[in-house]
Amino acid sequence: MRNIFLFIGIGLLASLSYASDFHRASPEKYIGKSTTIESDIGNEYMAVTSDPEATRAAYEILSDGGTAADAAIAAQLVLGLTEPQSSGLGGGAFIMYYNALDNSLTALDGRETAPLASTPNYFLKNNMEPMGFFEAVLDGRSVGIPGTPALLGDLHERFGKINIKTLIEPALNLAINGFVPSKGLLKSLDNDIGRLDQNKTSKEYFYNKKIIKNNKYASILKNFANKGSSIFYKSPLSTNIINSVNKKNGVLIQKDFDSYSVIERKPVCNIFQKHKVCSMGEPSSGALTMLQILKLIDHDPTWHNYIEASKLAFADRNYYMADPDFVKTPGELLLENNYILKRRSMISDNNIMTNAKHGTPFGWKEIKQTKYNGLNESGTTHISIIDKYGNAISMTSTIENAFGSRIMANGYLLNNELTDFSFTPGKNNNLVANRVEAGKRPRSSMTPTIVFSTLTGKPVLIIGSAGGSRIIGYVTQRIIDVLYNNVSLEDAINAPHILNRGGNIEAEEETNITDSLIQKGHLLDITPLASGLTAIHIDSEKNIIKGVSDPRRIGIALGK
Ligand code: GLU
Repeated sequence: MRNIFLFIGIGLLASLSYASDFHRASPEKYIGKSTTIESDIGNEYMAVTSDPEATRAAYEILSDGGTAADAAIAAQLVLGLTEPQSSGLGGGAFIMYYNALDNSLTALDGRETAPLASTPNYFLKNNMEPMGFFEAVLDGRSVGIPGTPALLGDLHERFGKINIKTLIEPALNLAINGFVPSKGLLKSLDNDIGRLDQNKTSKEYFYNKKIIKNNKYASILKNFANKGSSIFYKSPLSTNIINSVNKKNGVLIQKDFDSYSVIERKPVCNIFQKHKVCSMGEPSSGALTMLQILKLIDHDPTWHNYIEASKLAFADRNYYMADPDFVKTPGELLLENNYILKRRSMISDNNIMTNAKHGTPFGWKEIKQTKYNGLNESGTTHISIIDKYGNAISMTSTIENAFGSRIMANGYLLNNELTDFSFTPGKNNNLVANRVEAGKRPRSSMTPTIVFSTLTGKPVLIIGSAGGSRIIGYVTQRIIDVLYNNVSLEDAINAPHILNRGGNIEAEEETNITDSLIQKGHLLDITPLASGLTAIHIDSEKNIIKGVSDPRRIGIALGK
């Protein structure tokens, strides 16, 4: 039974001062916060995505006895049509998968890769100045080799139960019969006039349509079902991508596609408040940064400590984190107990840190390099699912900016993920860890998370969000609220965002919490914060599975 809770007295958007770069760097249109929150309750299975059609597709597959993997595949294929501003077959994703059969957790990296012809100077112009953000986004150089198709294929091979022919059906029906663009898509389209409509194919496909149909997508889906995900990495699909991208200054070759593979990573886990919190390690900065924050405050999770810990964790993130197959990074040394104690000693109840610096973990030999904070990326979508067998998936999927590079090929949009790299290789001979290198994966902030009970070893919370580097704060805040403050999942997700990425606190609204932080001397920017949380809370004592979708997006939860 689907529930819609009404939150009385919560305004659409309180605004004191807007972060100056919001409209420049966050084109995923913030549609405001709904006064209702979508949730559902069940005791067998649950699917939550940021799009109603995708949730329905996942729910149908779960009802037919599909696994969480099957349901996520069906949902992702629908999202590529109905929420194309956020993710699709032209993008990349990370998955945390809990397999109830053997109680195992698998982390899959389907991040895009930089072309073999790229170098650390990739985003520098002839005059050696870095390209502007949107100059790069709209250029063929921003497009990484898509990882999502291979990831879906891999996921199905490992954990799928239902034939792909069945999994493509919801998307196939929408592609052939058409779908009415959602409120979220329409707002994003409106906001992208001047960018997406500058591209002929994209303009024809998206604009002035009451119903959108996609024959190319339909035929690709059928091919995928018959021949598997390798079709996405071979001609004609790869050649179509190469041609569309290279026409716009790109440097892709077939070998880029031949060498793409999904990488199984080690899940990064740590204990917070007697729960085991697991998420995606590098090339995502998600798990390490979130777990550092949680570990730094585990003894005393106050909001002041959360903000100060976030400053320390982001300093380490910006300095160290990158693709570990290309640069040496301290990785889990950043979570080691003695290092955490040393960093924790820098947090004081009577002091506000203004310039947190990276630390040096024990056992780490310092390399001189330059930090890279990153830009305000925005886009992305999160899928949270649990099936009736107890398997769970937490999958964050992206094409980076809203509508990615705006370049379409094969009926889907191509990502601009490579703008997640540093545009400059470094400063004064000190390199940035997250510099561009051939075949490398750009640093991400995506934080697909599964929290486990340390008593039963079973999942209690599946959560993730959209929102660039703010994802880390969006997810961390909810984990604190649900696991420590005993706030219900609806209230936690509905609560105004509050986070810190090294500068002032960023908050969505003034609240009692921000008031008390201001009184302590913290500085605050009130700003629209376009998250896209989807989450599931499993209360095994009460035998209740609750799914909740972010009121800042249009998604729904459906379960039984
Ligand atoms: N490209 C971003 C990342 O991988 C995600 C974009 C977003 O969430 O807004 O961290």
